[in-house]
Amino acid sequence: MKTMFKKSGPPPAAPGGATPRIHLTELSAGYTGRPVLHQLTVEIKTLATTALIGPNGSGKSTLLGVLAGVIQPTSGRLRRDGNRPPAFVPQRGAVGDTLPLTVRQTVEMGRWGERGPWRRLTRQDRATVDTAMDRLGIAGLAARQLGELSGGQRQRALIAQGLAQESDLLLLDEPTTGLDPEARERIATLLTELVADGVTVVHATHDLDAARSADACLLLREGRLAGQGNPERLLTPSTLAQVWQPA
Ligand code: ADP
Repeated sequence: MKTMFKKSGPPPAAPGGATPRIHLTELSAGYTGRPVLHQLTVEIKTLATTALIGPNGSGKSTLLGVLAGVIQPTSGRLRRDGNRPPAFVPQRGAVGDTLPLTVRQTVEMGRWGERGPWRRLTRQDRATVDTAMDRLGIAGLAARQLGELSGGQRQRALIAQGLAQESDLLLLDEPTTGLDPEARERIATLLTELVADGVTVVHATHDLDAARSADACLLLREGRLAGQGNPERLLTPSTLAQVWQPA
């Protein structure tokens, strides 16, 4: 299995390869007493970046939760091909800013799935953590407390934690929200590089530029699929106006 950092093994299929990594069939999901997603039939391509876009409350985070396996569908089917659990990077706001953790400890938590929280990390685990921090440009912050960091730095620590899981499916909820343009650019480049390294990336975003640079796009409105496909074709001014106009 090819993972984020190991360049050995069989080469992955071409980016945006034909085999879907995830299929949703007429899938509905939500919270107790609050249906959110309605009858979604969607394919997410392997080795591609897919952007989820839509107005606030349209169900992007809920869909990521379903893809991550933390929210169970109420009906319909979810099929995730591949045998590694996905890495899920939640919105920064969903993670307490006052957790008494250093940046390194935060990123190390990405190894818990393999190692368990109480076992010592191996040398290989520590190397994976170092590589993840380097890729996000936060190695110099390793000893700092999460709560001392700027929002953008914390965001990068959470993304590094996702990378440290070495999954071949990375799910990110608004990874560039609150970042300055340079940091946004850095994340956009990173996501493209990850695909070249053998990772399928799905990210929810408010950033139309980020959505346009994805390989594929899913457009949500009020928990329903308002369109899917190539961002250039999908994200036309008239489609965007329709999706964002008040119901
Ligand atoms: P988006 O990510 O597009 O902003 P969400 O998936 O966060 O949309 O939210 C979709 C709907 O689900 C919203 O109406 C929101 O209020 C509701 N919702 C989100 N999380 C919960 C929750 N934990 N319990 C109940 N309702 C929720």
